[in-house]
Amino acid sequence: MRSVPKHARVLARRALDAATSPVGSILGFKAAGSAIALTFDDGPDPENTPVLLDVLAAAGVSATFFMLGTRVRRYLSVAESVRDAGHEIALHGLDHRRLTSLSRTEARSALVEGKAELETALGVNVRWFRPPYGAHDLRIWRLVRSLGMDMVLWGPSLHDWAQTTPKERWSRIEAQPGDIVLGHDGLACEIDGAMDEPTPPDLDRAQWAGEVLQHYRSCGLTSITVSEAFDRGKAVRGARWTQ
Ligand SMILES: [Zn+2]
Repeated sequence: MRSVPKHARVLARRALDAATSPVGSILGFKAAGSAIALTFDDGPDPENTPVLLDVLAAAGVSATFFMLGTRVRRYLSVAESVRDAGHEIALHGLDHRRLTSLSRTEARSALVEGKAELETALGVNVRWFRPPYGAHDLRIWRLVRSLGMDMVLWGPSLHDWAQTTPKERWSRIEAQPGDIVLGHDGLACEIDGAMDEPTPPDLDRAQWAGEVLQHYRSCGLTSITVSEAFDRGKAVRGARWTQ
């Protein structure tokens, strides 16, 4: 059987995204200038997050941190330092359980409590949610929207959670203006409710983020927060329901 050419797949995906955009998650932005939105999940982390904040300050860029309630409780002062450095605070979950594995009642209370806890702990208004593992369906999407949040997924990735080669990592980071780039300041573990605790890669994640930022800078790209990109450009949406 002949395979479908790549450009045909891209066109088909665009058509599907356009058709599903009313119930779609934010995948990236159009017309946001020469900026990407760098995002970090699974934090805060007492060792990596402070170093990453230094890296971001040295590069003069802003990012969005999708935090876990279990970690904000343990490392509140680290979470406060992210906020105080001017980065955006967003929700990755009360914990790192896969929402699609929970009943509707359980999923709702995890989202309600996660948002309320983060807002109370840091005194911020939480606007963005990214589900653990990206796992969500229409039911979860609707819950998130009914709670006044919007679902934010991602495009390129720093691929900083898995053991792999530098070549493989470099191959995944190429970004275009308006892309949402996924990185990790923390790595969710069993006490965060992680359902597949991977072996942490032999990688200095903050240093790697700095190298990627240097590369982006050489391509004329800077990083802004998800809110800045949303306000500056137009959100690109599409459904990416996955269990
Ligand atoms: Zn995660």
